[in-house]
Formats: sequence, structure tokens, C-alpha cells
Amino acid sequence: MSISSPIATAGIDRDLTPVMRQYRAAKDAHPDALVFFRLGDFYELFYEDALVASRELQLTLTSRDKTRAVPMCGVPFHSAGTYLQRLLRKGYRVALCEQMEDPKTAKTIVRREVTRVLTPGTAVDFSLDASQSQWLAGITAVGSGSSAAVGVAALDLSTGDFRATEFSGPSAWALALDELARMRPAELLYTPGAALGYFTSRATRQGVLRETDSADALPDESVVAEVSGARTELEDWVFSEEYALPLLRQQLRVHSLDGMGLEHHLAASIAAGAIVHYLRATKQGALEHLDILRFYQRSDALELDAVSVRNLELVESLFTAEGPQTTLFWTLDACCTPMGKRLLRAQLLRPMQSPQAIQARLDAVAEAAADLRRREGLRHSMEGILDLERLLGRVSMETAGPREVVALGKTLARLPGLRSAVAEFAAANPSSPWAHFTTGLDILDDLSELIARTLVDEPPVALGEGGAIREGVDDELDAVRSLSSTARQHIAAIEERERERTGIGSLKVRFNTVFGYYIEVTKANSRSVPADYERKQTLVNAERFTTPELKDLEVKILTAQERSAEIERRIFSELRRQLLCNTARIRETSRVVAHIDLLGCFAHLAALRGWVRPQIETSGVLEVLSGRHPVIERRMEEQGLGRFIPNSLLLNSSMASAETAAGSAPGQPDAGPSLLLITGPNMGGKSTYLRQTALLVIMAQCGCFVPAESMRLGLVDRIYTRIGAADNLARGRSTFMVEMTETAAILNTASPRSLVLLDEMGRGTSTYDGLSLAWATVEHLHDAIGCRTLFATHYHELTLLAERLTRLRNVRVTVRESSGGIVFLHTVETGAASKSYGIEVARLAGLPGPVISRAREVLKAHERAEDQQVRETGQTLEAEKRPPSLQMTIFTPLSQRIVDRLEALDVDGLTPREALHLLAELQRELKGTP
Ligand code: ATP
Repeated sequence: MSISSPIATAGIDRDLTPVMRQYRAAKDAHPDALVFFRLGDFYELFYEDALVASRELQLTLTSRDKTRAVPMCGVPFHSAGTYLQRLLRKGYRVALCEQMEDPKTAKTIVRREVTRVLTPGTAVDFSLDASQSQWLAGITAVGSGSSAAVGVAALDLSTGDFRATEFSGPSAWALALDELARMRPAELLYTPGAALGYFTSRATRQGVLRETDSADALPDESVVAEVSGARTELEDWVFSEEYALPLLRQQLRVHSLDGMGLEHHLAASIAAGAIVHYLRATKQGALEHLDILRFYQRSDALELDAVSVRNLELVESLFTAEGPQTTLFWTLDACCTPMGKRLLRAQLLRPMQSPQAIQARLDAVAEAAADLRRREGLRHSMEGILDLERLLGRVSMETAGPREVVALGKTLARLPGLRSAVAEFAAANPSSPWAHFTTGLDILDDLSELIARTLVDEPPVALGEGGAIREGVDDELDAVRSLSSTARQHIAAIEERERERTGIGSLKVRFNTVFGYYIEVTKANSRSVPADYERKQTLVNAERFTTPELKDLEVKILTAQERSAEIERRIFSELRRQLLCNTARIRETSRVVAHIDLLGCFAHLAALRGWVRPQIETSGVLEVLSGRHPVIERRMEEQGLGRFIPNSLLLNSSMASAETAAGSAPGQPDAGPSLLLITGPNMGGKSTYLRQTALLVIMAQCGCFVPAESMRLGLVDRIYTRIGAADNLARGRSTFMVEMTETAAILNTASPRSLVLLDEMGRGTSTYDGLSLAWATVEHLHDAIGCRTLFATHYHELTLLAERLTRLRNVRVTVRESSGGIVFLHTVETGAASKSYGIEVARLAGLPGPVISRAREVLKAHERAEDQQVRETGQTLEAEKRPPSLQMTIFTPLSQRIVDRLEALDVDGLTPREALHLLAELQRELKGTP
């Protein structure tokens, strides 16, 4: 977002006051940010910035200089945080222009400088959501068109989690954008030059370049906007190899990036380098915790594209008004620590693919789920563990005060308790899957002791206030403090003594920051003061004096205060340095705690909700007995809406089971279908069944138990969903176009190991276009891909495919008809639905009676006409597409009757006249004329 330069001030610069000239210099250096200009206890904004801030923050607009009408508004320094947060959330950038010297000691005008530019991706100190990483991401490409490698890097500055990945091949851009969509960075760094690559490759793929996609209308807004909060455009040179790579090496303090797995990943390295550049350009302070960049591969995880992440409501609700309760994350989040919560969220977006890793987690979950006492002990020991990673980040960025370091120390002090709780499992079972955590958890006792030894238990917020360092840490500090406290006692005694000496009972010794210590007497008593009193200040009702003794003590106290503040700063900075020397250890501990927490959370859910362990197989099977949708089930329970009806499922990928030697009876008829065609009324529960299946697979591949009686799962490499498209309309494509683009992506990239969920495909176009496309898609999924597929449809004609496609089964969601209407049973059973009940559902929804009756009439008429048209369409389709031997009945029974008659015909026994008669009769029948 760019903040235009302030209201034109050309020609008046020379007339500006020195302060306003300082302001101008700061604003000129940061034209794209709102400048928060520190004036005493306030941050002030001027000109256009003031207009923006007053509008966005509802601040009263005033004027600094009435003659020139300089708009101005301000916020108190001490409560600036909430205002800053609001502006950042709205995507603004803020440059903090601070006073660089103490106004009391400044000889002329106070020096001011922009010390930091806050941006949505870097302002990590403004009340973050602990369960979410706040990503600052960068994207770039090396090469162009289909040979481009697209690099994505991302950093959570609050924790120092810095990672990068890279994509290549014709879908590189699409995959990279998917990755970003999963991550939902708060801010994305990019250069339009690289974005052009995306459009070129997309246009090549599609064979067209739509008008709106032309290079000059480069829609960073429409493409990049979908995957990120704020976007920040950087110049091309930032993304150059010559600039970005040395910068990255310098930050990571390495000579070569090879050790981080980046040797063949130039694009990823450059994207990471651009992030480092941005941190420096926006002065994000010392970044000592930023010393590791982790390269990761997409294929390590079960892939979920952006559409699926959204549709399945893994971490965000489709409709924000519904709140987070509709998400899988919310349902599963029973973690005790912020690190655990972030890991859970990250896992849901990237479930695992390695059977060993999944089994190891399931083993640990199983053991803890079965042992209430140890499990509760474990979870209890994590209470009070604060955000280790973020505290470390704040220490590194020098934004942590003594209180935060003490909080870090208290968190570290809980680690021995956690280790003992983990060790309890190993004590009961030497081969416990928890055993390796006992050795893997560094309890960092040296660091917690160091903090406890150095800082007092309840230090002040800011270091400058004094009193943060414990007594006995530094001899000089102790001496200075005792000097200062003796002087204070002395001053307290002066008040008593002077009252007696002067006989003025109301005499007081006071202190303020401007005048220091003084003796105050009321005006009435001012004549009675002794001759050695020196007048300091005259007020309306009082006179203030000092004495040589008081001055002397004041100097002692102030010097002692300054000296002790200096010593405290030195000790604190040494403590910080020692902590940062241990960054890697703290980070590793934090990672281990997150894993322990996640497993504890899964075990807790398994026990509490009676979930079962999924059986992981190498086959292509997906079998669920009495599965439930975890999110809906919990919401129904909480809202007292009755019981969720469990449903079962059996799917078996034809290709995967044929490929796998250790599969479950590959190719045998009972191995299960690869495609379930689901029909049934609206509101019957089709979408729920689809979503539930995907969620169960995701949970299982995260190592979590599942809500079912049992589940067998041959691991899935990718989940595709096509369920609704409402939220894509903003991008200027029709619902149908979006649907087809998503379907194309599925058909082009799904593998036999994928899980495909298609809901009501084709409904965005004319019935026959839609039906034909759905028809051909089912055939392709069944014949060419063979992946596990759930296909929910209202096209009842498709159910006939079961006669020919051997691995397709029809299932239907059931309803019971009663005199009062229909009752949804939400049970999935074998067979095809016979009726649609759309009008019944509309009636339940409250459509007026006359509309319902009219709709019934129209439906009847329509069905008659449709029957006729369908017959013709079916004939043509079949005749054009298939050789006679393969002909099948698309839209029977009429065509089937004709085929049957033709098949049974003895052609040699016909006279030419009979043949002609027959031909005319068949034609009449086809045309539907008597
Ligand atoms: P449409 O064809 O109109 O999209 P649908 O068949 O996809 O409808 P769903 O949206 O899945 O139906 O479900 C409709 C309602 O039924 C939802 O409110 C859902 O919570 C409830 N429901 C679905 N399945 C079950 C179930 N197994 N047990 C209890 N309630 C269910």
C-alpha cells in the first residue's frame, strides 16, 4: 500500500519550523509509510498521513499551524500499540520517527530518526495470535515460461522460523501460489517482473491470454491478493543472484548455502535473500536468531491445494461470520502451549506422507491415550509454558524487557517437570515411543538458573526504571544502590529536621523531574525561611527552595541512578548475549515441546472422544466404518442438535492396489470400488460425507486418531476438492469457469494415490453441457486415473454408468417420505437415488405454497419434455462416440429397447418391405410420435 506524499507543500519548505523540517525529511525518506513522529509524550501525524490516520483510527483532526492549516492528529506514546496494530491490520506501513536524545539534555532541537518501519509482515510485537505463525514471504522465479523455477521463502520473525522451497515444471507458478495460499502470509514480497512469468506460463497452458491478463494490467491485485494479506513490491535488483545471495550468506553466517540444502535452488535462495534485504531496509533491529534457513520439499507432505484448504475449512471458516468453530483446527486444538498450537495448524496444512513417521506418532498417541494418569501429568506439566520461540525472538530483536526475560526463565524452569512427566512413560515401558523425548528434551537448566540468578522475580517493565538486576550480581551496582538509598533516607530526614528548625509545620521536601529535589513552603510562610535557603521557583501559593546540602544529595542520587542504570544495562545486555549464544538449543527445545504438546493433544482427544487408531497400509484402500464428521459432530453436541449419524465407506484405488504387492487383495472384486457416485436429495448429507472423508484422511496422516469405529488407509498423496466456488467470484471469473479450471487441475495432475472429491460438478452450465462434462469426467477418473473418488451429483443419469464401469458403485443418501413431507436420514447406503426432492427441500425452506404447487406442475411438464430431449441426445451421443459393439445405454430405457430389438433381429429373415416398416417404426418410437 502506498501512502501518497503529503498535501503539496512545495514552496513553503523554507518557511518550515525546524521540527517540521525534520518531519519532512522523515516523510520524504518513507513516502509509502505513515510517519509516527514523536513529540514528547505523543506520536503526531501530519498532512495526508493525519487525514488517513484520523479516518482509520477515528482520531480528532487538529491543525498544527492555523495559518497554513497543516492537518495533524496524534496518539499517546504509551498507548500507541493498539493504534499501530489497527493500522497494520488494515495493511498500512508505519515509520516510527523517535527522539534520539533526551529533550532535557538536548542543546538545540532534539535529534529525531526513523528507527523502524513496521509492516504487516514484520511488526511481530503487536499482540499476535499465538496459534498462528506470522509469515513474511517472498516469491520469485528464475528462468521463464514452462522452464521457470519458482522459489518461495517465508519467515516468521517472531520465532525465527525461516524456510524456503522451490517448484519447477509447467505448474511451478500454480504450485507456488498454492503453497502461499496454505501459508497465508501477512505480507508478500515480490517483483512484478517475476509475476509476469506466472502469466506467461498460465497463458501458455491455457492457450489464451485473456484481455485482463495482459502484461500492463498485471494483476498483482487479483492473483497475489488471493494468497496474501499485504503485498510489497520490491525492485527487480533485490531479486538478483548477485545481490540476494551474498546478503543471505551474511545473515546466516555461512560461506556457502549448500549445507542448508539450497545448492540447486537458486530461486528459493533469492526469495530468502529478498526477505533479509527487506528486514534490513525496514530496520528490524538485531536479528541474531535468524541463523538457519530450512529447505523443504512439497512432496514430503500430503498435498492440499489452496481450494481444498479453503473448502475443507481446515484452519479458517469459509464464512468468517461463523467464527472459527467450523474449522478442523478449532475442533482439534486442545494444545497447552502456543508452540503446540502452531505445530497443529502447520500439520493440518501439511499432513505427513511417510508411513514410519505417521506410525511413530500413532504409537505415542495410543500409549498416552490409554494411560489417563500419565497423560494428565504430561499435559499438566505443560501448563504455564509460555511461547519460548517468540520470547527468544524478542530477546534477539532487542524488544524484550526484563519482564519478558524473567518470563522466559520461568518457562525454562518448567522444563524439568515436563521431562519427568515424559520419562514416566519410559519408566513404565522401556520401549515406549515417548522414550526418545526424554533424551531429546534439553531442559536448559543452565539458562533458567542464569536468568534467575541475574534478574529479580518481578522486575519493572523497562530496564531504565532500575531495580531489574538482583542484589549480589555486581558489587559496584550494590554499592551505588546503597549510596542512593542512604541519600534518599537522608533526604527524608531533612524534611523533619527543617520543619523543626524553621517552625513551619507544612514544609515539605519534594521531587520532580524538571527541578529535582526542593523544599516547598506556602507563600504565607515564605518570610520565615532561613537565610541559607536559595529560591528556586515561585508558584501562586508556594515558594520552592533548595539548600547546598539538598543539592549535594540530589547530585549523589542522580549520579547513582545514572550509574546504576548504566550497570543494569550492561548486565542485561550480557545476559541477552549469553541467551542468544544458545539460540539453537532454545529453538530445538521449543520444537520438541511443540511435538510433545501435539501428541498429548491427540491422545487427549482420542481418549475423551473415543476416537480410534487408523490402520496405515501400503495398499490403495480407504475403508471407514461408521465414520463421523469431527467438526459437525462436536458442534451438534455442543448445541444440543442431536446425534451425528455415522456412515461407512470403502474405496480402493484401482491402480495403486494393482501396483502394490502388499495390497489388500488387489484387483479382487471385494477390494472395493475406486469411485463412489453419490446421489440423493439436497440436504441429504452428500457434501458432509465428502468433507468427512477428507478430514479423516488428513487427521490420520497427521498421526491423530479418528472419529470412526475403524479406518484402514493406504496413504494419500494429494487431496483434491471441487466443492462450491462462491468465493472465487471476486476474481472476475464465472462460477462455471472456476469450476472447470479446478476440474482441469484435478484431471491433469491427480495420481492413482490421490483422493478426489467432486461435488455437483457441472451445475453451473446448461443441463446437457453439465451432464456431458460430468459424464466424461467420471469416465476419465475411473478409466485413466483410477484414484479414489467421491462424486456427488444430482444428474441421476450418471448412475447408469455403474453398468459399464466396473469400479464405480452407486450410493445414495437416504430420506424417508411421510405424510408430513420428507425426513433426512443422513445414511449412506448402496444404490442410486430415484428422486431428487428439490421441491420438497424448497418447501421446508419456506417457499410460499403457490410457488411450490406451480413448481410441481412445471416439473411434471419439464420431465415429459426432458424425457423426449434426453432420448434424442442420448442417441446422438452414443452413435457418435462409440463403435456399435461398445454401445451402451446412456439414457434408457427407450434406447435400450431399440438396441434390444435390433440385437434380437434376424436380418436374413426380413423382407425388404418388413425392413422398411421396422425402420419407420423405430424412427417413430425415437421421435416419440405415435
Ligand atoms: P446439497 O445437495 O443441497 O448441497 P447435501 O446433500 O450436500 O446438500 P449437506 O450439506 O452435506 O447436504 O448436509 C445438509 C445438512 O445435514 C447439514 O446441516 C449437515 O450438518 C446435516 N448432516 C449431514 N450429514 C449428517 C449426518 N451424517 N448426521 C447428521 N447430520 C448430518
